[in-house]
Amino acid sequence: MSTEAGFLNLSIKNILSDEQSMLSQARIRLLYYGLFLVFVAVSAIFFSVIFQHQPPLIIISASVMVITACLFKYLTWKGEWKVVSHMLLGLGTIVNISDILVVFQKVDILSIQLVLLIIIFSFYMLGQNWGLLYSLLNLLPVVFFLLYTYNSIYIIDIRPEKLDQSTLFISVLANFVLMVYIHNHFYNAFLKNIIKLKKTSEEQIRLNINLEQAIDKAEKSSHAKSEFLSTMSHEIRTPLNAVIGMSNLLMMGNPRADQLENLEILKFSANNLLAIVNDVLDFNKIESGKVVFENIRFNLAELMHNICGGQIIKANEKGLIFKLKVDDVFKSKTVIGDPTRITQIIFNLVSNAIKFTRQGYIEVKVSCVEDRHNQMVVRFSVKDSGIGIERDNLNAIFEPFTQESITTTRKYGGTGLGLAIVKRLLELKGVQMEVNSKPGQGSEFLFSLELPVATEKPEGPADKPIVLNKVEPELNHLNILVAEDNMVNTMLMKKFFSKWQVQSSFAENGERAVEMMQYGNFDIVLMDLQMPVMNGFDAAIEIRKLPDSQKASVPIIALTASALTDIREKVFSAGMNDYVSKPFKPEELKAKIVALVSRKALINTASAN
Ligand code: ADP
Repeated sequence: MSTEAGFLNLSIKNILSDEQSMLSQARIRLLYYGLFLVFVAVSAIFFSVIFQHQPPLIIISASVMVITACLFKYLTWKGEWKVVSHMLLGLGTIVNISDILVVFQKVDILSIQLVLLIIIFSFYMLGQNWGLLYSLLNLLPVVFFLLYTYNSIYIIDIRPEKLDQSTLFISVLANFVLMVYIHNHFYNAFLKNIIKLKKTSEEQIRLNINLEQAIDKAEKSSHAKSEFLSTMSHEIRTPLNAVIGMSNLLMMGNPRADQLENLEILKFSANNLLAIVNDVLDFNKIESGKVVFENIRFNLAELMHNICGGQIIKANEKGLIFKLKVDDVFKSKTVIGDPTRITQIIFNLVSNAIKFTRQGYIEVKVSCVEDRHNQMVVRFSVKDSGIGIERDNLNAIFEPFTQESITTTRKYGGTGLGLAIVKRLLELKGVQMEVNSKPGQGSEFLFSLELPVATEKPEGPADKPIVLNKVEPELNHLNILVAEDNMVNTMLMKKFFSKWQVQSSFAENGERAVEMMQYGNFDIVLMDLQMPVMNGFDAAIEIRKLPDSQKASVPIIALTASALTDIREKVFSAGMNDYVSKPFKPEELKAKIVALVSRKALINTASAN
């Protein structure tokens, strides 16, 4: 304690504080009231020995009185209870040794009491080590005296003092009172401590129960939120498919220039809405920890050119210069990673860069920072000369549904989900996104990824994406089986097929599709994945089990409304050959059909030869 009190202020409050533990407070109180009791007892002894005319005892008791008073003052002044305890115990030890060996030269009830008091007091006040030391110091003279006086009568040549009955009575009584006080005081302190501990633990149990209930509730509501979001998004995607599909159809039917413009707007808005729904779905998936990263081989230089291809056109339309700089080392190497997620991250950053830049440039840079033991550290940077971001907002823009300001929303639109998705995806890989930005000058978003380099060549053609045919594909001789339960989608496809002049049959669920495969002859199957009775995955597995090898090896393209990227693995492992996500781009679907059918024809010719 370092609190200093006024000289005449002897209150215990000077030296007690809430920061002290219960035990320290109990010790301070014990010392304070103990010293007071000792002072009162020694004062009584002092007057008793004056009355009895015993000069040596008068001097001793007077000295003890003065020392006790000084210690009391020192305690309330400086609060150093440990020092005062040592002094008091030292004083007690000196009194005990001199009583036994010099003043009374005997071991009687008083000396035993004093030894006991010192033992109890030293253990309670100063703990085990000091307790043992003081106990030893005070027991030694007793043992020494008993051993020494076994044969002789006095230790030294001074006549021992005789204690009169009244002084003995006061001393014995005072010592007993002190002993009882010490025990009573500490018992109370321990009891209070135990009660407090019990209360705390009860409180803790109650809090834990509340906490568990709250966690349970939060988990349930978060689960319900995820369910709601994915159901809603899926429900929104299905009619959107139809809107985009119908706009495509109408655009193919040679509309007038003004109609074409309206259709373009319709398609653009529907695609925008679809992107938002996909973002919500994706964010939801990341938040619920369902994201699994793929590990497939790809060429990073090629991937970067593919991602930026469309963006370059967009940037040029806005009058911006687009620079894509990829280190040469990536041209010849195949790396292993998740190209879909890298695409998603770069696409988001580049889209933002274009969106928030009115003039100047966009620069996308991919450089190799480290290339050791077939492990590359790749640094990605997307830089622009756009509006920039205020320093204070640099963290907020990564929060979901947060944009830099209301003006941003008004001027540029958007949901504020893009960067949140990017940040969380990178965090799942243990990577932090860096941003350097100055308002009015531009922004730079940077991150590094570790990508292993593939040493072997990729295996079969199965997981190789089909190269889109540049020649105008011919479809009019094909017989296509479509498994699709949604009426609008069926209608849409029928329109496309009649335009492409292909024959088509429709199955309303997976089971029906398998049945139709057994009896009909189809060149290719388009398989929706979510269908009643039997889903697309199971239907594909059943088709692959058909006894007729020609039928069992029919090309199957999955049609998926799911925007989620792990669908690819599932589609291939169910034995399907490729997938097209809905709303499908007619040209893409057409090209994939042609590519698969001609590959099958090639295989058939090869096996016939
Ligand atoms: P959105 O683009 O839908 O608004 P994002 O999460 O992608 O959502 O971005 C959040 C906010 O961060 C944007 O609204 C914008 O204020 C700010 N921002 C992102 N990229 C840039 C950039 N390149 N330049 C300036 N501001 C940006």
